[in-house]
Amino acid sequence: MIQHKRLRVAVLGCTGSIGRQTLDVCKQHADKVEVVALSAHSSVEELCRDAREFGVRWVGIADEERAKDVSCDELPQGCELLVGAKACAELGCMPEVDCVVLAVVGFAGIEAALAAVRAGKRVAYANKESIVVAGDLLMPMLQEGQLVPVDSEHSAIFQSLVGEPAAVRCLWLTCSGGPFYGWDRERLRGVTAADALAHPTWNMGAKITIDSATLMNKGLEVLEAHHLFGVGVDDVRVLVHRQSRIHSMVEFVDGSVKAQLGPSDMRIPIQYGMSYPERWEAPCEPQNWHMEPPLSFGEADEETFGCLRLAREAGRAGGTLPCVMNAANEVANAAFREGACGFLDIERIVGTVMERAAVERVSTIEQLWECDRRAREAAHVVLREVGA
Ligand code: NDP
Ligand code: MG
Repeated sequence: MIQHKRLRVAVLGCTGSIGRQTLDVCKQHADKVEVVALSAHSSVEELCRDAREFGVRWVGIADEERAKDVSCDELPQGCELLVGAKACAELGCMPEVDCVVLAVVGFAGIEAALAAVRAGKRVAYANKESIVVAGDLLMPMLQEGQLVPVDSEHSAIFQSLVGEPAAVRCLWLTCSGGPFYGWDRERLRGVTAADALAHPTWNMGAKITIDSATLMNKGLEVLEAHHLFGVGVDDVRVLVHRQSRIHSMVEFVDGSVKAQLGPSDMRIPIQYGMSYPERWEAPCEPQNWHMEPPLSFGEADEETFGCLRLAREAGRAGGTLPCVMNAANEVANAAFREGACGFLDIERIVGTVMERAAVERVSTIEQLWECDRRAREAAHVVLREVGA
């Protein structure tokens, strides 16, 4: 990567939870980072405010209707506005960008991911759905050191692997267990969106908060780790660890286990995504280890939280099945948030759409778009059946 005086960063999805925390890190390290481009879907007021604060050169707005509300004087002088579904991808491959923080939610992030990787950028990668769906296309395009995961578990594994030759026996993905840890299915049936949106440890966007409650988030993370680190789906093991201090671990063939620990603050892995292989001053307060309660470990309950089991099944089958699973989950997750289905219906919708789908080998991005479209349609059909 060509090093300029400061790292020139594009934050795609800057108005979300990861995006906001990224901008906070950038502010704290203004001597090292220059924010040159920002994008959002439809939160245009927030986007324009950030654009003025950071004096960026480019902004992208995915929603064409909302983009019409933006006038030139709301943007910094000379700032160029890009509009439409491809805006993120265009920003991410600009020659003036060194590092792309990919903080878009959902499969929609894939175009930007592919464009940035193709252009040889450092990608600080939060958008797990696009790795799960298109890992077969994305991973072979990578050259060493260009993709640094931001998801806390994957950052922990990435950090544990620095300086290690490939002698991994398995990966241990830690999992807080979500807000309904220890509940049975009878109790889960009555869960509302408000209950599920109150996550015990992390303050995150709405979609991933629901995914954390169903454990689909952990399922997506198993497949994300499988692609990122080239480890078999069944060698990515889930370990319930309620305190969220150990962010994940690598077990090597000689029985040694390396882990990364720290505060439950996403700004640390976000920052590492930009600073790697260096380390910069902490963006948050350090942990007071003397005051910590004992650390506990347990097994994830894949029977009660069926989404985790479904994700593993999708990963074992491979091909287009993870795409089908992800699309059905995006539909069911949004429907649950809107009150259109119950908590356990999410798993039912995902499972039914997966059962009805034909699985193919992944060969092109167009094939994945088509598969995603069909799976979303199928999920809406099952949603109507569930509601009937
Ligand atoms: P949010 O919902 O808070 O933010 C999503 C961002 O993406 C917003 O800026 C949003 O813009 C933008 N966006 C949404 N849809 C589109 C689209 N179709 N095209 C372009 N931009 C779009 O999500 P999070 O920040 O919580 O999560 C982002 C990603 O990071 C997800 O993949 C998530 O799984 C992953 N992640 C998140 C963690 C967290 O702590 N939040 C932890 C680990 C991973 P607008 O505001 O205009 O809608
Ligand atoms: Mg995570």
